[in-house]
Amino acid sequence: MPELPEVETVLRGMTPHVVGKTIQTLSLRRTDLRIPFPTDMHKTLEGAVITRTSRRAKYLVFHLDNGWNWITHLGMSGRFTIEPVTHEPLKHDHALIELTANPVREQLAECTAAEPNILLVFHDPRRFGLMELVKDSEQAQHKLFNKLAPEPLSNQFNEAYLAEQLAKRKAPIKQIIMDNHVVVGVGNIYASETLYRSRIHPATPALKTAKHASELVGNIRDVLSEAIESGGSTLRDFVGAGSNAGYFQHNFDVYGREGEPCNRCTSPIQKIVQGGRASFFCGKCQKLKAN
Ligand SMILES: [Zn+2]
Repeated sequence: MPELPEVETVLRGMTPHVVGKTIQTLSLRRTDLRIPFPTDMHKTLEGAVITRTSRRAKYLVFHLDNGWNWITHLGMSGRFTIEPVTHEPLKHDHALIELTANPVREQLAECTAAEPNILLVFHDPRRFGLMELVKDSEQAQHKLFNKLAPEPLSNQFNEAYLAEQLAKRKAPIKQIIMDNHVVVGVGNIYASETLYRSRIHPATPALKTAKHASELVGNIRDVLSEAIESGGSTLRDFVGAGSNAGYFQHNFDVYGREGEPCNRCTSPIQKIVQGGRASFFCGKCQKLKAN
């Protein structure tokens, strides 16, 4: 499942190809993903110019010049690729969006040939992805967004905020830092990595970790930023048939390393299951303390 760094990488890879472009046609090859496509999606998208893109939690947002935002989510297996207009749809290509270079931009680029049309293709074998339309002015109040906690890389996510959130929760710290009501975008992989760096056992009750809020904030920011940075190296692969945008292999300290030696103390990395998700940690560096 793509986590926040992968989604951010997709956004950064796609943005130069789509911003300033006009949506000429939208071709949908089914009527729904996780939820039905909005009924008026053609009417809203076709003819609109994509003025900018943004990300909120794991939602990718295309801002249109008609005041609407086209909201997308990659779900478990979704991806966007840029293809030539001659692209023959593959199985699981559910939405094909033909983009033209904006006429205004063509006029500005006097000496260069007009950019060819391209296809933005949404491919999602497991169909847990999502597309929705919301007015730009109403996005923050929309039900997909109105309960979301702060972004981990924003100033709203800081020591005082996290300490307050942790102090009132007894559930295991691993589950709390993955809770979208506390902070968005910290998925299973990066929660394990954060706790390893912070030397906190994943089963520690959250309220006992409130005194480590500053370190947790720093480590959450670091593991996500480093992953985004390493994802940048995959961007050159973004354009092209069958290119796999942004799902990169990262070198993890604990995630997926059960039985392998800890990078700090060489003890074997352990695995437990919490809330149905695998947690990886070093039993020696991350002791479960009584207090
Ligand atoms: Zn260790």
